[in-house]
Amino acid sequence: MAIIGCASKIIWKMPVKRTPKVAIIGGGIGGLAAALALHRRGIEVAVYEQSAEIKEIGAGVNMSPNALKAFRLLGVEDAMVEIGHHTKATMARNYKSGRVIRRQENSAGGLEARFGAKFLTIHRADILDVLAGALPDNIFHLGHQCTGVAPGDRASVARFKNGREIEADIIVGADGIRSAVRASMFGAGEPRFTGCVCWRGMVPMEALRPEDRVMEMTAWWGPHGHVVHYPVRRGTLMNFVAHFDSDAWAEDSWTEECDLVELTDTFAGWNDYLHRLFRTSDKYYKWALYDRDPLKAWGRGTVTMLGDAVHPMLPYLGQGAGTASEDGCVLAELLATGPDDIAGALRAYEGLRIPRTTKIQAGSRARAKFNHLPSRFERFKRDVSMAIKTRIGSDKTMMQSDWIYEYDVKDAAREVGEGTVQTPDG
Ligand SMILES: Cc1cc2nc3c(=O)[nH]c(=O)nc-3n(C[C@H](O)[C@H](O)[C@H](O)COP(=O)(O)OP(=O)(O)OC[C@H]3O[C@@H](n4cnc5c(N)ncnc54)[C@H](O)[C@@H]3O)c2cc1C
Repeated sequence: MAIIGCASKIIWKMPVKRTPKVAIIGGGIGGLAAALALHRRGIEVAVYEQSAEIKEIGAGVNMSPNALKAFRLLGVEDAMVEIGHHTKATMARNYKSGRVIRRQENSAGGLEARFGAKFLTIHRADILDVLAGALPDNIFHLGHQCTGVAPGDRASVARFKNGREIEADIIVGADGIRSAVRASMFGAGEPRFTGCVCWRGMVPMEALRPEDRVMEMTAWWGPHGHVVHYPVRRGTLMNFVAHFDSDAWAEDSWTEECDLVELTDTFAGWNDYLHRLFRTSDKYYKWALYDRDPLKAWGRGTVTMLGDAVHPMLPYLGQGAGTASEDGCVLAELLATGPDDIAGALRAYEGLRIPRTTKIQAGSRARAKFNHLPSRFERFKRDVSMAIKTRIGSDKTMMQSDWIYEYDVKDAAREVGEGTVQTPDG
């Protein structure tokens, strides 16, 4: 410990860990979770977002126990639970008859006891509000559209469409599936159209008939598609997303409006409940789903990435926002307590995250087939196998996702703190 003497006081200069200045490109859920994780670790951080405000679309997401455990590390778990909807059960139903294929209890004694956190359904804008509210205002730089980065060994540079250029010790690309950060390091390659189109809507719960106010997270599985609905915002709104295999349309805009007739035609013959739900909405949006193949490297020099910028996945395991939040937590732990060499710390972060996110990307693709089986016989086999798994208790999640939900980012953080994380050099 060094002692620095001044005229009036003695400052004890502790051997502090360096606090690198981190620039995050992109203020979505992944970018803000990372910003909060770094901020809580005392690391100086700035967020550069292309939009004029920090905002999300009017849609819901489900956040499984692994995501809630990341929120716990970020100190915002209670706030998320307060504004979300604690889904007491998850159900899979037959698309036509409504027969319950499987029901999974999520509250005490069920999923929550097994995985140590709740299963939450929540409005995307609420997640962003909670994260942004926990951060100082002065870290946000809005209207900054990144056009590329120049990775260096000691510091890196990001350029913006507005002519600005910044240098930071570390740059983190959290700029979504069409990431400019990714493009400037690994080429612009187009994302892969997955052959699935979604329609979404959000309705006030009180606009539904009392018997239609289903509070469980419910998925209706049918040939070539499935429909999911669940409450958000303390149960005051019902969010629905209807998925169908189709090559007829391939725009990945989240805000493209469409007419009710597209939904009623596509899901003709599906259960009446769904049609009542569709009709209650006054706006419908559609978008095509894209993903990418996993990357073996996520960065160069002092640039790295997280979330959809580097592991965009189909939403069928409900893990894109959850894994993006985990990324930020692990990154912050590595920078706070990991190897001193910054590039080494970033490669160690990538080494910890790539195997998990690669497996979840692959699982999400496989799940698309499982949910949309066109053959009646294959669906029958699937449903019987799920019923057996429920009976013998071999799958606690309805999605064979035990290994995903078990993950506690705090354990990854502890490994880092204990120095058991290896840099690529050893
Ligand atoms: C239908 C559907 C359902 C889903 N359901 C779930 C679910 O239930 N659970 C779950 O966990 N996940 C779900 N996801 C996935 C989840 O939405 C995403 O994985 C998550 O939002 C990714 O967050 P992100 O911050 O990495 O990227 P984004 O949300 O894409 O945020 C990127 C941010 O970067 C900004 N940006 C982009 N380019 C630039 C640039 N050049 N310069 C500066 N800023 C830029 C954008 O404006 C945006 O603010 C779903 C996705 C879909 C499509």
